[in-house]
Amino acid sequence: MREYERNIRKVEPYVPGEQPQNKVIKLNTNENPYPPSPKVAKALAEMDTDRLRLYPDPACTALTEALADFYHVNPDQVFVGVGSDDVLSMCFLTFFNSKKPIFFPDITYSFYKVWAELYRIPYECQKLDGDFRLVKEDYYKENGGVIFPNPNAPTAIYEELDAVEDIIRANQDVIVIVDEAYVDFAGRSAIELVGRYENLIVVQTFSKARSMAGMRIGYAIASPRLIRYLNDAKYSFNSYTMNQAALICGVEAVKDREYFEEGIHKIVMTREWAKGRFEKLGFRFLESNANFIFATHPEYDAGELFEALKENGIYVRYWGSERIEQYLRITIGTREEMETLFGFLEKYVGRRKTGQC
Ligand code: PMP
Repeated sequence: MREYERNIRKVEPYVPGEQPQNKVIKLNTNENPYPPSPKVAKALAEMDTDRLRLYPDPACTALTEALADFYHVNPDQVFVGVGSDDVLSMCFLTFFNSKKPIFFPDITYSFYKVWAELYRIPYECQKLDGDFRLVKEDYYKENGGVIFPNPNAPTAIYEELDAVEDIIRANQDVIVIVDEAYVDFAGRSAIELVGRYENLIVVQTFSKARSMAGMRIGYAIASPRLIRYLNDAKYSFNSYTMNQAALICGVEAVKDREYFEEGIHKIVMTREWAKGRFEKLGFRFLESNANFIFATHPEYDAGELFEALKENGIYVRYWGSERIEQYLRITIGTREEMETLFGFLEKYVGRRKTGQC
């Protein structure tokens, strides 16, 4: 090791899913298979590029107000960032500064561990039970903060709001972050609890239900007090996190509630239909309330199936890590993409059964 390397902050980075540039059936990073609202396309086409000479609004006023309107909260309860990854990272930096460990599930969004390591935050993973459910009592112990996604990723399991509230209620001396990247496909959001719990932060994204992963917009909704702390951290880091195009397009997307709801409906219908197809092929999966399914097959190795799918231009996500080594996470695509997936799986399962491979 070079002498100067002793003082370098070393981290094991998060590994994002592959983003192949050729045309494949992409069911590996939980993007939305449909385009964003046509109002977004229109706003982009009509954007005044002369405006790009100037810095964007550091307070992101128009987007913050549009979100406040949509969720029936005050604009001082909204914070926006460059995707929810940016918002979550800022939350870790701002709110998790205790010497006590923060808690999150052992099987969850792997970025939590990366941010904890990056910011030197002690953490302790709480084990999901045998059915991959959150054990809420595990979060009643003393801690330095709590974060979990609902629905959880990669399991897709949604915990009812009562259980979420129990965890928040038991942790009023620390900050509790509920990462709701997938909640639009699930059920009630914890946003309705924000008025009652000053220590709660709900984080959501435009990447999934609003089909804008490429635009990078995320947001947090919380008490004005916590939003002020988040803004202080942001302005100490980078005043202009959100670019002009994202601010304009974000507003248009939020305003188009009808398109948003139709899009969710299409994906939920495809998901429910896909569950039946997976079942017929002998797959087992956890009850999904997200835009993906976490599935395993008792007779086929997940790693081998992952490779076979990839060779055939179908990308899904596979980790091969402890407790989930036999699981694949499969994003819900369009009906046509899913038909192609099932066409391949039917052949794969059939061929293997007759010993032809
Ligand atoms: N939280 C969870 C649970 C996720 O799965 C993702 C997507 N990878 C994110 C947050 C971040 O999404 P984005 O930064 O695109 O908003």
